[in-house]
Amino acid sequence: MTKKKLSTRLIHERSGGRPNLTVNPSIDRGSTLLMPDIDALYESGRQTYGRIGNSVHRELEAGLCALENATQAQLTPTGVGACALAIASVVKSGDHVLVADNVYGPTRRFCRRRLRAMGVEATFFPARIGKELRDLITDRTTAIFMESPGSLTFELCDTQAIVALARERGITTIMDNTWGCGVLQKPLDLGVDVSIQALTKYVVGHADCFGGAVMTASDKHAAAVKNTATDWGTTLGPDDAYSALRGLRTIVPRVQAHGANGRRIAEWLLEQDGVADVLHPALPEHPDHNIWLRDFTGANGLFGVSLEDRGDKAVRAFFDALELFGLGFSWGGYESLAIPADPGAIREKGHWLNETEDRLIRLHVGLEDVGDLQEDLLCALNAYCN
Ligand SMILES: *Cc1c(COP(=O)(O)O)cnc(C)c1O
Repeated sequence: MTKKKLSTRLIHERSGGRPNLTVNPSIDRGSTLLMPDIDALYESGRQTYGRIGNSVHRELEAGLCALENATQAQLTPTGVGACALAIASVVKSGDHVLVADNVYGPTRRFCRRRLRAMGVEATFFPARIGKELRDLITDRTTAIFMESPGSLTFELCDTQAIVALARERGITTIMDNTWGCGVLQKPLDLGVDVSIQALTKYVVGHADCFGGAVMTASDKHAAAVKNTATDWGTTLGPDDAYSALRGLRTIVPRVQAHGANGRRIAEWLLEQDGVADVLHPALPEHPDHNIWLRDFTGANGLFGVSLEDRGDKAVRAFFDALELFGLGFSWGGYESLAIPADPGAIREKGHWLNETEDRLIRLHVGLEDVGDLQEDLLCALNAYCN
């Protein structure tokens, strides 16, 4: 049989030897695993403790490997935990890491606070730097961390140029692929060594639990990640693993629907009064659109909108006028969300797109009716402009 498409595989791939005939695996809640006899307690290769997970975890890991073309998916309790685990598995005291300046805020905080305490120095580079990243590499550089498109401002990294540089120098590349989520971008196929996802977003897809995963394709990186996770005792609870697995089954059509709705809203917003710019890599106006065409197969529902500056009061009026777009952090669930974004508060100057007086807003377009969402945004824009 020919190799089936991802949407098919995510629905049909199940671990063998299930004791029941339900479509979904049952959740084994257990720390202790009871052994049949004394020899089994210390038998190598036998699972002897619940910390490494159970059947639900194995099925989720297999699905994530299919999603990202990985050979190993290491589960973590949160997305931040996955970012921290990936970086910590490839550095030691005295090393230097290069981190794209547009990474998720808590990843940046981990680099500044935790890496420093571990004796590792981090330099933040402008995400759009491309080949010039060469000038920032030192003899101590062991890892390059990218997030493409980056949080809040949606710049893309020239991943292929950066991977080529890193390979020349034996540097490990890591990509936070929460936006691309394996459906839209497969970093390991682009030559990246370690890919991360906050499962909390599109994999879980229903805003009801946390999870993270670190995906690898080479034995060397897989072993480094697994050993670090073992030493730190990171694990994912069985109920959360179950929710992530249930979400994973339908991620392909959900992300396609988010992407279609998001694109219609993004194009429509460009025409509206008060809107200065829309930061969406699928729009031809986006400065990194060509990289997006090369590295991605589509877009999701998350992008930025900058509004012409009308002051703080207008921004408050915009958010308070929204009824369908919820005001809240995170994204990737079925519902639409909006938050104000202030990248200047944490980033270095000159490192990001749209560094203007405009007011940046991040939208997550959900699975509601597009006309209803437009009506909601129109009310908010009226409140903003008047
Ligand atoms: C949300 C997010 C994370 C962190 O995920 P949590 O599960 O909330 O810890 C990491 N990276 C990106 C890009 C995110 O959007």
